[in-house]
Amino acid sequence: MPHSNISVFVPHVGCPHMCAFCNQRTITGTDKIPHSEDVVKICERALSEVRDPSETQIAFFGGSFTAIPRDYMLELLGAAQRFLGEGGFSGIRISTRPDYIDNEILDILRKYGVTSVELGAQSMSDPVLEANGRGHTSYDVEKAAGLIKDGGFELGLQMMVGLYKSTPRDETETFEKLCTLSPDTLRIYPVVILEGTELGRLFKSGEYKPFDFDTAVGLCSQFLNMCEKRGIKVIKLGLHASEFVEEQALGGFYHPAFRELCEGRIYREEIERALPEGTVCAEISVPARNVSKALGQKKCNLNYFKDKGITLKILPDSSQTEKFKVIGIR
Ligand code: SF4
Repeated sequence: MPHSNISVFVPHVGCPHMCAFCNQRTITGTDKIPHSEDVVKICERALSEVRDPSETQIAFFGGSFTAIPRDYMLELLGAAQRFLGEGGFSGIRISTRPDYIDNEILDILRKYGVTSVELGAQSMSDPVLEANGRGHTSYDVEKAAGLIKDGGFELGLQMMVGLYKSTPRDETETFEKLCTLSPDTLRIYPVVILEGTELGRLFKSGEYKPFDFDTAVGLCSQFLNMCEKRGIKVIKLGLHASEFVEEQALGGFYHPAFRELCEGRIYREEIERALPEGTVCAEISVPARNVSKALGQKKCNLNYFKDKGITLKILPDSSQTEKFKVIGIR
């Protein structure tokens, strides 16, 4: 699986859908529409900069790639062709809506060197999809995922956590249903409520009350942990840090280091389970590269245990292969 992407953002101009969370301009910080010459420029620059193009994909992101006008889609794919193959990038990655995938589209994508298709599933609860104006059902996700896998593509799925009318139970069910579709990769986006969106309007009116931040971190850390155990690569957890998002966020679960928060939470919960009742002091050794995860963001794990009357010492051990080891306890 390639390690990096050359991203070309393709906004869905004239999109007929009304997803409650959507304000693409805010998310990307741009409303420019790329054309073939832009693709060529981006690829040429990347080719001279990346260390190993064979480990890199050209990624057309924006969420609706197969829903944009066909001529335009082919223009973009066509422009990328000379950057594939020997000495070039390993393939093309696209993201799209589940209701814009069928065998005809997949044949075209294959012909143009697309190797990975990501679906914006967002939720597998039909009432939640409907309440958020997605315009597709969970069945569309299942059907499209099956066609993508059967077509020999790498399957990526995206879910949003904390949409309007979604409960923690809906989130867990969504995650489990997505896992049954055997994705190769998953992107998990805790909802960020942006100015100028339907979610923003519902939030301001008080009709939409997202669950609290801690619940979102708890859910996302569980999902991340389960993906690690199931061999599903979580390639994104949380929105990219961006000043546009920071300026436009009205609420929800934005944090510039959301993934790190979740990794710290996983450590905290696993350490807590390993400590017997009545522990007042524990020494834990962790692989040196994982010390900051074990400590948690701003050492929040140490403070968490301190509040419970436990002094925790985290010791780095570069020879250690296990996630952590309790080496001293009283
Ligand atoms: S997120 Fe929804 S509304 Fe926004 S561009 Fe994509 S399909 Fe259209």
